[in-house]
Amino acid sequence: MIFRKVCLWLTLLMGGMCAPSSYAATLTGFHLEVGATAERIAILTDAKLTPKASFMLQKPDRMVLDFNHFKVGKVSLPDTYRGRLIRGIRSGAYDANTTRLVFDLSAPVKVLANYHVEPEGKIWRYVIDIQSKNGAPPVVAPPKPSVPAKPKIAVDAGHGGQDPGARGKQLIEKQVTFKFAGALVKRLNDSGRYQAFLVRANDRFIALHDRVKIARAKKADVFISLHADSNPNPKARGLSLYTLSETASDAEAEALAARENKSDIIEGVDFGATDADVADILIELAQRETMSQSATLAKDMLAGMPRAVTLLVRPHRYAGFRVLKAPDIPSVLVELGFLSSPQDERMLASANYAGHVSNGILKGLDQYFKRKKAH
Ligand code: ZN
Repeated sequence: MIFRKVCLWLTLLMGGMCAPSSYAATLTGFHLEVGATAERIAILTDAKLTPKASFMLQKPDRMVLDFNHFKVGKVSLPDTYRGRLIRGIRSGAYDANTTRLVFDLSAPVKVLANYHVEPEGKIWRYVIDIQSKNGAPPVVAPPKPSVPAKPKIAVDAGHGGQDPGARGKQLIEKQVTFKFAGALVKRLNDSGRYQAFLVRANDRFIALHDRVKIARAKKADVFISLHADSNPNPKARGLSLYTLSETASDAEAEALAARENKSDIIEGVDFGATDADVADILIELAQRETMSQSATLAKDMLAGMPRAVTLLVRPHRYAGFRVLKAPDIPSVLVELGFLSSPQDERMLASANYAGHVSNGILKGLDQYFKRKKAH
């Protein structure tokens, strides 16, 4: 036992110290397949190989396979993997004779089958079919195209049609958001790094849940909803960003979300109660993950804002905005400024300000996707 521990540490520190001098088989790779309800792991080797022990560990969930005299080297999860169950693959020399493969899992799994496949050429396959114990099927995403696609950005101009939104002395929110959305889409597309599109391409009413649907249908990677607020206090001014949360960060944020969510009852029907299709696909885990990504994106956008953009006090806030509820698309709502502030209203009318805000959002997106890529 002591030897095992020493050996494990030496292996971790110095690598290969306890590796046996001859191997029964060498790993040539992994082949992972994602089916409708199960995932398949194939361990590819140059000779027939059966684990001498296999077991599950919890907290965090792992599947462990021990092999005799198995040459593995450095292993990692293939980046073509599009399943949900496996988070990573690691290996190590557990003792002088034992090589351990560890599959880090995102959920407890059961093994449906394990077997050898007769070799094709010289490659043997040891196959393990696994399924999530809680029955949630893995999600099959399309394979990555070889040229990395540009992230798609849905730009949603708030309000429209018979829903004008907030009013200033001169400006109407639906017009301000439409003008800004156009400038932002142009700026993002001109950068050559994004494929941005308008959710609302003209002055028409679109219910909030339909905006989310449009973004999902076009496979948006990020959803940005543009608005301009109004406040009884004419001194309130500056830009702020909102991301989804079940609990609002403050009463103001909650009241604002209530006002913005009213867009759905403009036509006399509360669509909020009927968005069952959204509820169906709402995977709690995905929603939570998306909420944290949305918060990161909002922070990156704020960090990217040039000095010319005045920010509201505590410019990142949280509330239950219905338009931010895509379970799988990081979403940020931008309140561009206050139509109730004479200073902000002047700014909101200027093309310069739209340019500054667009640059800030672009910078934030660059930072966000750079970080995502690094992970
Ligand atoms: Zn609004």
